[in-house]
Amino acid sequence: MDILRQRILKEGRCLDGGILKVDSFVNHQLDPQLVMLIGEEFEQRFAHLHINKIITVEASGIAPALMTGFRMKLPVVFAKKKQPSTMVAGFYQTEVTSFTKHRSYPMIISKEYLKPGENILFIDDFLAHGNAARGIIDICQQAGATIAGMGFMVEKSFQQGGHWLRERGYLVESLAIIDSLEGNRITLR
Ligand code: 5GP
Repeated sequence: MDILRQRILKEGRCLDGGILKVDSFVNHQLDPQLVMLIGEEFEQRFAHLHINKIITVEASGIAPALMTGFRMKLPVVFAKKKQPSTMVAGFYQTEVTSFTKHRSYPMIISKEYLKPGENILFIDDFLAHGNAARGIIDICQQAGATIAGMGFMVEKSFQQGGHWLRERGYLVESLAIIDSLEGNRITLR
């Protein structure tokens, strides 16, 4: 995805601790045209799988997951980070460490929207250490659902999430892979 790579190089800023700031088109302001292309790209990469549902995590995963769901004609469920009082049907819950916020948060999905036997595609903005992905794996295991694939807009290969997931046999597709943010320089693969 050359267009995504160009945006990362042009607008991305390196922060301390191996964090890439892309607030101008991912984490604060959104570019609907770009997100539409991202949805198309994920659709192509995962079209061969029999997926029932897309799952993501609020908030920044929702835009790419929604466009992927639009393209693939699939429902999109986002895991919540707080339990709403309206969630009465019971829910699956796990605890996830946030890489950017340096704290842990609950990850919650209602039993109404994740069923045993479903084939899940997990979509998120970033893959860093894989904590969010591990949370989704845990929740899908609790539900008896299967993760058929995982798609990330940006993977940072110098953190271990991608390695951990692929080693365990998960199909991981990343649209841009960052090999280094050292010296304030973004090095894309
Ligand atoms: P992980 O759970 O894989 O360790 O981290 C992924 C989550 O942390 C993503 O959902 C994303 O919100 C956030 N994150 C991780 N690394 C970065 C980064 O370099 N930049 C931004 N903007 N978010 C990140």
